[in-house]
Amino acid sequence: MSIVENPGFVEALDRYFPGAVLEEEFIAGTARRLGEEGFSKSNTIASVALCRDEITRPLFADVERVWGPAFSLAGLAGMVTAGRTGLAAAIHHAPVEDGRRHFVIYAMAHIAIAANGTIGQVERPGIPGPSSACGALVAFRSELQEGTLEVEFDRYETEQSLLKHRLLPLIEYGTVPDLVDLTKLTVTAIEDDLREILRSLADAWKGTDHEMPTDAAIFSGIQVHGPDGVNFVWPLSVHVSIGGDRHHHEFSTTTAEPR
Ligand SMILES: [Zn+2]
Repeated sequence: MSIVENPGFVEALDRYFPGAVLEEEFIAGTARRLGEEGFSKSNTIASVALCRDEITRPLFADVERVWGPAFSLAGLAGMVTAGRTGLAAAIHHAPVEDGRRHFVIYAMAHIAIAANGTIGQVERPGIPGPSSACGALVAFRSELQEGTLEVEFDRYETEQSLLKHRLLPLIEYGTVPDLVDLTKLTVTAIEDDLREILRSLADAWKGTDHEMPTDAAIFSGIQVHGPDGVNFVWPLSVHVSIGGDRHHHEFSTTTAEPR
């Protein structure tokens, strides 16, 4: 069954995530663009910041098909829990070719849209009825809505504690964003964290043996799970830094501004 035979889904996708593209086409497009800049499977390491949820895995698999084995940076909801230590390791694992490194990062929040257009719901094989995605964001939102938000750090709830701690200050006091807006907020936090971590690593490595000419690219966006296991990507931004000169290539004019 073709995706266009689900008008409810298509309408919601166009409304909330205009410009979303099929996941494999998105990854192939990024590889083509970076290929023009000298990135290849043999000289590049990919890192991925994606939620742990198994339904995000097709994107991980597409990335690995194009770039080879990828480093995982994220925990629940795609938040960059690997931190400076994780990202530093990923960068150090990049092959060195002619004295320079190449790395690419895919940073995505995720959300489901059911066949009838219901936001946050997906069918999982073998599970009766719809289930949620992203479950971590749905759980956070439920706590906000019910006034039961627990903000104490819980060592047996590490990633969810950190997620709430990171996202709560971005939400206007007393309001509960809908799941679309919360997901868009999440990807901007993921991207900001990545850029801050990269900035601090660059500062720490300045003038040391770790400093090396590096070509880097970050793609951020939202992975959208549709009916029948078909996934889309809503591209948010692209940042490419080549040869020490920082130049930004905007993949899309789409932004996370309120719709
Ligand atoms: Zn999730």
